[in-house]
Amino acid sequence: MSPPRTDPLAPEPHHSEPTHPEPPPLPSPVALDVEAFRAALAREAASARSLLASLGSDIADIVEARRDSNNDDEHDPEGATLAFERSQADALRRSAQDRLAAIDHAEQRLIDGSYGTCVVCSGPIPVGRLEARPWADRCVSCV
Ligand SMILES: [Zn+2]
Repeated sequence: MSPPRTDPLAPEPHHSEPTHPEPPPLPSPVALDVEAFRAALAREAASARSLLASLGSDIADIVEARRDSNNDDEHDPEGATLAFERSQADALRRSAQDRLAAIDHAEQRLIDGSYGTCVVCSGPIPVGRLEARPWADRCVSCV
């Protein structure tokens, strides 16, 4: 019994793969997923509002505590702590208010179609930036 001889002159079996031409690259999307950004803005606005609501009561609590222990402010270490806490809360509240105002403007830009366009240079704001900061109104170079 001899192994089957392969004839060195026989043509190579033809294993040509069916050709799958690469699909042409899609044009880079220009249209933003407006609904996704609208939803993201709504979420951000809700979280800023709830932060404001909780800060509102925090500040009321701090003011209340301060009133209770306010007789000798200079020699009361609590007084300094409370003042510090209050200024922290004020800073947080201001930043949440700024955020809400920026979200408002972004929602306007979604409506008028200028969302995703830098307000300074009119260039496109990268989608990655909008995903991180949906209220962004400037491109990275114009910040
Ligand atoms: Zn710009």
